[in-house]
Amino acid sequence: MVKRWIIGVVIFLLISLIGLGFIPFLDTDITDEDTVIEVLSDYKDPGIKSCYGSLILGCKETKVEVSNNVDTTKIGDYVVTYKIEYKNKEKVLKRNVRVVDNTAPELEIPQEQVNACPKATDVNMEYKATDNYDGDITSKVIKTLDNDKLTLTVEDSSNNKTTKTLSVTYQDVDKPTISLEGNDTIYLSLGSAYKEPGFTALDNCSGDITSKVTTSNNINSNKVGTYEVNYQVVDDYNNEATIKRTVKVITNQPTVSKGNKIIYLTFDDGPGYYTNELLDILKEYNVKATFFVTWQHPGYANSIKRAYEEGHAIGLHTYSHVYANVYASIDAYFKDLEAINAEVKNLTGIDSKLIRFPGGSSNTVSRRTPNIMTYLAGEVQARGYQYFDWNVSSGDTSTNNSTTIANNVIKCLNGGTYVVLQHDTKQASVKAVRSIIEYGLANGYTFLPLDITSPAAHHHINN
Ligand code: ZN
Repeated sequence: MVKRWIIGVVIFLLISLIGLGFIPFLDTDITDEDTVIEVLSDYKDPGIKSCYGSLILGCKETKVEVSNNVDTTKIGDYVVTYKIEYKNKEKVLKRNVRVVDNTAPELEIPQEQVNACPKATDVNMEYKATDNYDGDITSKVIKTLDNDKLTLTVEDSSNNKTTKTLSVTYQDVDKPTISLEGNDTIYLSLGSAYKEPGFTALDNCSGDITSKVTTSNNINSNKVGTYEVNYQVVDDYNNEATIKRTVKVITNQPTVSKGNKIIYLTFDDGPGYYTNELLDILKEYNVKATFFVTWQHPGYANSIKRAYEEGHAIGLHTYSHVYANVYASIDAYFKDLEAINAEVKNLTGIDSKLIRFPGGSSNTVSRRTPNIMTYLAGEVQARGYQYFDWNVSSGDTSTNNSTTIANNVIKCLNGGTYVVLQHDTKQASVKAVRSIIEYGLANGYTFLPLDITSPAAHHHINN
């Protein structure tokens, strides 16, 4: 027979258990409170689950507010907080997230073997070190040369280290480099002495070996021609380098002098519609002039033939007259020049050596090709041509008034020698010629056509 008090105790315990089953509680599942992730990887917060309730009445999901400041692009410690709200109360749980860099940098070396100078204590070579977190850390690479081994080591800011080892051969197989100061081609006036503009010689293993350079040349500055200066140097390990410079001896040209009372009338850009009229006027006064011709209006080509046959000088201006093309390069210039030369030769049988540069030698439109005028001015003379600028401009490109054009010329005539610039493509300029000639003849001037020995009236070269 069960004792009544035992039954009492059992009933009491049962009631207590049932009572416990009604006690409310908060249940959360947070695990991995400390999370470690690699920098630049994706972090996805797993969140938490939480519920509030009792064993008997069941656990209901609570509202969780997550605040997450994890920046996976920055190494550091972060905290994710979960604010749980239940029954007008709240509770905060935390997760620690540590962003770390455990990735070693990459060390790129193009070769597996390097050459070093004999007795070298360092090796010049290309390499690149990149770290996922630090970026380019090439400057942190440490090279250690130990006999025939070269070790490159690089460490990122999180102490991840990468090491590569290469084999080293001690030899100098590279030639020295000789650099010339001044231009590769130098123009020397007939009779003047060659002055060396200077040079340097550098070698990868021997350093500055300028003092070891020997030079030789075959220049005869008393004879027009093309000569060479040769430079030679040998480094400490028998590698030889040579280089040469070209020297062109050109004739001195007479400059425009005062007191000769000579007028050289020159006409650019034709032949054209007005050229025949101009030739008629010149014929009337028996005045000889110079035509710097183009091939812009080939329909008037016969005027070139007529001008030549009537004793005028034929010079070369340009085939195309398109400055940008003519001065695009040295090759382009000479191609254009040869094209107009060939047309003149075909019409007259002469090989004209008289040039007028488009825009004159002082033009700045050629600056797109730096120094081209400096080069061309020398080079055309070295090739046997002479270029002519002018010391009187008629201004016929900025006015259509023939009186103004004539006066522009006449006011410059002061008893000297004059190379006058006009254009036979301009009607007003052709009409002005009569007044210029009449003034010149009345004042004791002689009109002459240019030849290769005439005063060249060279301008200052600006390019
Ligand atoms: Zn022109």
